[in-house]
Amino acid sequence: MYDVYGVIGYPVKHSLSPVIHNLGFKLLGLKSVYGTFEVSPENFEQAVIGIKALGIQGLSVTVPYKERIMKYLDEIYKTSSEIGAVNTVVVEEGRLLGFNTDWIGVLKAFEENGISLKGKQVVVIGAGGAAKAVVYAVKEAGAKEIVIYNRTYQKAVELAQKFGGVPKPWDELNKAEGEIIIQTTSVGLNSKESVVGPEVLLRFKVAMDLVYSPLKTTFLTYAEEKGCKVIDGLQMLFYQGIEQLRLWTKKSLSQESLSIIQKELYAEVQRRQA
Ligand code: NAP
Repeated sequence: MYDVYGVIGYPVKHSLSPVIHNLGFKLLGLKSVYGTFEVSPENFEQAVIGIKALGIQGLSVTVPYKERIMKYLDEIYKTSSEIGAVNTVVVEEGRLLGFNTDWIGVLKAFEENGISLKGKQVVVIGAGGAAKAVVYAVKEAGAKEIVIYNRTYQKAVELAQKFGGVPKPWDELNKAEGEIIIQTTSVGLNSKESVVGPEVLLRFKVAMDLVYSPLKTTFLTYAEEKGCKVIDGLQMLFYQGIEQLRLWTKKSLSQESLSIIQKELYAEVQRRQA
């Protein structure tokens, strides 16, 4: 008998999460399997009700359901309510527990690159779902100042108010300055667009892009050209997934297993982008 896990979202067929989790289960020696559940918005409620009935042990939750799933859960971990989004469901004794591992993915990505956010001036571009986890993580890590630019200014204001950041209008983005810049919008996803030009990246030391398709976005290419240390979006995806595995299995992977999964994840992206 296999334990069943999966990712629920719409669309979700091209998710990379099965690569992380199926290999993770194998390396942990567990008889578990992870699939994709592509559920359209009109069927979402029925699907959530079915989690317990089908005996599913845990779920990753992705766009557009990270907020919508919250009202169906029996318990929501404090961090997830503060961020306002759940990306992980753990099923324990028939109860649905909600967690957020995205913010941990952000912190680990910085940590693994040897970059401290403490006392830094950080610019966050975007104020959508992913930005909430980013701003929460940056604040938790003790950044000195968090400046938020978003196309819809009101959303930047709301996010800044929630976590103590400074909202700035979108048309002033070309004047952005600081030490670390984090790109959280979907601009650049499967395209050559960049939210800012190289002249902006010249003013930063570290640049992170949450978009990982393509792996080297134009934003990161400009950043690298201007001498920034760069962090690609796959690093956050990897670490948030590893944290999910830990929550589901209560087991930690060895350093060797982590390297195997990370290598396979990058190889899979390269195969898909070839
Ligand atoms: P979301 O909630 O829909 O937010 C989208 C954000 O992008 C908003 O700030 C939106 O601004 C902005 N945006 C969209 N099109 C734009 C444009 N043409 N010009 C300027 N801004 C634009 O989505 P999300 O969940 O935050 O995800 C955002 C991106 O992060 C996606 O590409 C997703 O794949 C990626 N992501 C990566 C990871 C990872 O692990 N690496 C995790 C989560 C998400 P408005 O508010 O003005 O609409």
